[in-house]
Amino acid sequence: MSDCLFCKIAAGEIPSNKIYEDELCYAFYDIDPQAPVHFLVIPKAHIQSVSAIDEGNCAVVGHIFQVIAKLTKELGLESYRVVSNIGEQAGQSVLHLHFHVLSGRDMTWPPG
Ligand code: AMP
Ligand code: ZN
Repeated sequence: MSDCLFCKIAAGEIPSNKIYEDELCYAFYDIDPQAPVHFLVIPKAHIQSVSAIDEGNCAVVGHIFQVIAKLTKELGLESYRVVSNIGEQAGQSVLHLHFHVLSGRDMTWPPG
């Protein structure tokens, strides 16, 4: 999608602090970290949010979780939280599917 920030980051058109990339997904550190470790994993294909996942595009979600398991192991993270915000009330500010991975501090439940 031409006017999407995360499409541009995944394409390398906007700089990011990249951790990992393959043909399907891209991982990079959040510009405004909410924990000592805070990175995002996104599909390279534009999907607006979890609510736009369907039979035709869901394979990338399993792949992303496999990548999250691999990256967190490599970073030595034993405990972490994976979050995806959907829609305005939940706090989604970028309309391209992304999974936050947060680690390195105590976390409360329920989340605010
Ligand atoms: P959300 O609010 O759930 O849609 O998450 C969007 C996240 O993207 C926020 O945590 C932002 O800090 C982060 N973000 C926005 N712009 C950038 C950027 N250029 N590079 C890295 N992270 C970004
Ligand atoms: Zn996009």
